[in-house]
Amino acid sequence: MTADAGRIILVDPSNTTRELVARRLRAQGYVVEEAADPAAGADMALCTPPAAVVADLWMPSISGVQLCRLLRSEPATAEVPVILCGDTDEPRNRFWADRAGANAYVPKRRTGDLVRALRRAVLAVPAGDGFFFQLGGGTIDVRDRIARHLDEALFDSVIAAEVRALAACGSFDRLFDLFAQFLSQVSRYRWLAIATETPPRLAIHHHPSNREGVDVEARAALGLSPTVDTSGGDVFRVEDDDASATALASGPIVRTISLGTTVVGRVALSPCSTADEEAADKLLSLVARELGGPLRMTSLVEESQRLASTDTLTGISNRRAFTASMLTEIARSNRHGSPLSLVLLDVDHFKKVNDVHGHSAGDRVLASLGTLLRSELIRGTDLTARWGGEEFVVAYPSTSVEGAASAAERLRCAIEQLVVEDEHRIVIPVTASLGLAELHPGESLESFVARADTAMYESKTKGRNRLTRSANASVKSVAPGASSRRAPPMTV
Ligand code: GH3
Ligand code: MG
Ligand code: MG
Repeated sequence: MTADAGRIILVDPSNTTRELVARRLRAQGYVVEEAADPAAGADMALCTPPAAVVADLWMPSISGVQLCRLLRSEPATAEVPVILCGDTDEPRNRFWADRAGANAYVPKRRTGDLVRALRRAVLAVPAGDGFFFQLGGGTIDVRDRIARHLDEALFDSVIAAEVRALAACGSFDRLFDLFAQFLSQVSRYRWLAIATETPPRLAIHHHPSNREGVDVEARAALGLSPTVDTSGGDVFRVEDDDASATALASGPIVRTISLGTTVVGRVALSPCSTADEEAADKLLSLVARELGGPLRMTSLVEESQRLASTDTLTGISNRRAFTASMLTEIARSNRHGSPLSLVLLDVDHFKKVNDVHGHSAGDRVLASLGTLLRSELIRGTDLTARWGGEEFVVAYPSTSVEGAASAAERLRCAIEQLVVEDEHRIVIPVTASLGLAELHPGESLESFVARADTAMYESKTKGRNRLTRSANASVKSVAPGASSRRAPPMTV
């Protein structure tokens, strides 16, 4: 090794260790500058970047990890190899050295390893173009710089943790709302949007004053078709003045959101001005890295909730989901004094359908009824579900028994006209008997359903394929296991 092997800055508070290592490195031809104080060592490195820095990992005041991070983040020393040395060969030491961006970690006393690691690191640095990067005059406050870098690292990890915490949101809309509230606190933007492919979704946060323009801009940025109706339910919109009302001043920033190798979606943001671009760009890269997990988790939760509340054969809600929704509807009706009507329908002679046409033909009838019930529902607020077997329910919120009767009669006619064929292309006749009830003030769901059921039973006894309204009296209590159909039919 020649005497111009390079200038090394050796930082170690222990005089004995430092002198020992310095002597060995000098023997290898390095010019070694020693520093007992890490701040002084950092100063030396920043003022005149050396060929490499060798530093103790755990020093008082400024650790080797902090020193390494500082050198990495300053343009003058970003490429300078750093080798960290620690007392032991613990994996933890290697981990921290690696995380700080050190080129190698060498346990102390293994000076041979240090010499070899240093040679490799110095050789690996690309040859410079002769331009010597030197910081401007004045004293460099190393502690200030370290504090600033620590603040930046802390800011990044706080942002990352906030975004990761969105995994517990449970729904895409809630995730986006919280994300927008959070991001608008740390960045100024005109609009922020997230689009996912499966399921296809779009969410936009913007100022109330520029809804139209924003939609066009966001869709173009996210590569979505501008022709799709944005006023529909597929777009989740957060409109408030947390987003800026400023006019378009700078192009949108777009990032792909991935989870492993799978693309989960895209996030885009429109900065308020060109001055905001750099910070927004950095921020969006950071959040895009973290958003994949929460978005995937949310769609899994939504999908499992959908599966748990859907009847697989008919594709409509199951009894459990309907019961939960009805409890809410009953509470709303009692609170506002608004009417609530319920229809219970039972397919006529369904056992015969199975017997004559086969069980799978029977299944097809039930599936067709599910489709019909979905399409026959006139208002978005109406609820329907498979109550069990060949029984279905439809609830009409804010609808009196008169209004519901005409809707239910339309439904009965539609069932009558339903064409379902068996495997021999023989048309299966389908009719249903319906029972209708309007909620009484303070009535329980159990009593409400029992009255609709009693009315439905009356339709059966009167000859089927008809609608019967419940008489006014509430069924106060139904003994467990007792069928309300055994109760005497009430008059219409
Ligand atoms: P009613 O007019 O008095 O209602 O006569 P019904 O034959 O419809 O009534 P019943 O209660 O005697 O028979 C109901 C039948 O519905 C019996 C049952 O096997 C059938 N069923 C219940 N669930 C399903 C299903 O998921 N698929 C098929 N294919 N049949 C079902
Ligand atoms: Mg039945
Ligand atoms: Mg039946």
